[in-house]
Amino acid sequence: MKQQQTKEQVIVIGGGAAGFFFAINLAQMRPDMQVIILEKSNQVLGKVKVSGGGRCNVTHACFDPSDLISYYPRGGKELLGPFHHFQPGDTVAWFEERHVSLHIESDGRMFPSTNQSQTIIDCFLAEAKKYQVQVHTDTAVQSIQPESTGVRVQTNKREYQAKYCVIACGSSTFMWSIIATLGHTIEKPVPSLFTFHIQDPRIQGLMGVAVSHVRLHIPNTDIETEGPLLITHWGLSGPAVLKASAWGARWMAGQQYKCPIAINFLPQHDEQSAFQTLQQLRTTHQRKTLFNTPITPITSRLWKQLCQYSGITEDVHFADCSNALLLKLAQTLTNSTFQVKGKSTFKEEFVTCGGVRLAEIDMRTMESKRVKNLFFAGEVMDIDAVTGGFNFQAAWTTAFLAAHAIAIKP
Ligand SMILES: Cc1cc2nc3c(=O)[nH]c(=O)nc-3n(C[C@H](O)[C@H](O)[C@H](O)COP(=O)(O)OP(=O)(O)OC[C@H]3O[C@@H](n4cnc5c(N)ncnc54)[C@H](O)[C@@H]3O)c2cc1C
Repeated sequence: MKQQQTKEQVIVIGGGAAGFFFAINLAQMRPDMQVIILEKSNQVLGKVKVSGGGRCNVTHACFDPSDLISYYPRGGKELLGPFHHFQPGDTVAWFEERHVSLHIESDGRMFPSTNQSQTIIDCFLAEAKKYQVQVHTDTAVQSIQPESTGVRVQTNKREYQAKYCVIACGSSTFMWSIIATLGHTIEKPVPSLFTFHIQDPRIQGLMGVAVSHVRLHIPNTDIETEGPLLITHWGLSGPAVLKASAWGARWMAGQQYKCPIAINFLPQHDEQSAFQTLQQLRTTHQRKTLFNTPITPITSRLWKQLCQYSGITEDVHFADCSNALLLKLAQTLTNSTFQVKGKSTFKEEFVTCGGVRLAEIDMRTMESKRVKNLFFAGEVMDIDAVTGGFNFQAAWTTAFLAAHAIAIKP
């Protein structure tokens, strides 16, 4: 009589994006292994559901690994190798093979064509079922014990023994403390991707006004970003701000989120060339008021407030405007300093900077250099990106590499 062989067990801690992507890929590559996801909450893929404002920004249309890494304030250098194995093009193909098509928006962000995160969740749940991945919800991991034959994992319900264990628990302070007991260093966690609190007459009452392209600099640092800017009722947001919050995450935390920022509303100009442009306008538009002659792409309402701030009132015509006033306006347009007084969470996407130190992980396989047969995937590691689908891409890539590494183990 043929004996039924017990499948080798692989434990995945965390039923989020990285946990599912890992589990599905490994279960497909190695049907002889039993992959079990342990998820502490009563539902899986919670963050995927709310991601990208409910649309799930799955990845970004950036298909060159050397370009791609420039979007990661932490982990970029270390991700270069992994992206050569699994990058956004592979993500697109992976989903297409499973009949989920993605579309590209004008800024490069990629979403499911349905524009619903539920499409991604449905795909993952169907794949997990197809490859017989077990999902144990309400199961919180409490400790991890390395053993000579594998790993022992204690949960609030029962103990699991497995040949391999993959930690995909995201930014969990409790899990980081467990990982630290295994000999890993945890880089201090601080928030990334946030918006700035600013109260200033230049932007007061302009909630909803956007500028399509600004340059933002944090004085006395090398943090400089470009992109659209959005004025909110509490301050400033938009890609230029979010990028600065990601690159400046640690520095700004050190300043308790109180620091100056300088904005150039006309990044194609410096102060001198903006001054010259205004002087030319004075020659060509003598009879017009400055108030009603905004320079593109600054919208009329913002322009008026910037004029007012520079001492130019509603009735001032170009012909009557002194060089001193034009110079002041040129300064306001190209080098306006604002005081940041705090931060708010960006609701569409946020991550934590910090996590397991990358030098302690073999980035070819995602295996711990401290504990054999223990792997990491996703946000638990000290990897994070600017907004735009890059954070999920890091989760897919690291999860895929871990799955592949375990699949080819003898
Ligand atoms: C509101 C929001 C929107 C976002 N939108 C986007 C987006 O559109 N595009 C993008 O690229 N990124 C986005 N992100 C970031 C992205 O969601 C994360 O980078 C990604 O989810 C990380 O995946 P992960 O699997 O590593 O961690 P998570 O998705 O956080 O999953 C970790 C899982 O582990 C579980 N867990 C934790 N501790 C334990 C334990 N002790 N035992 C068992 N289970 C445990 C958690 O409950 C959780 O389910 C967004 C983030 C937020 C908060």
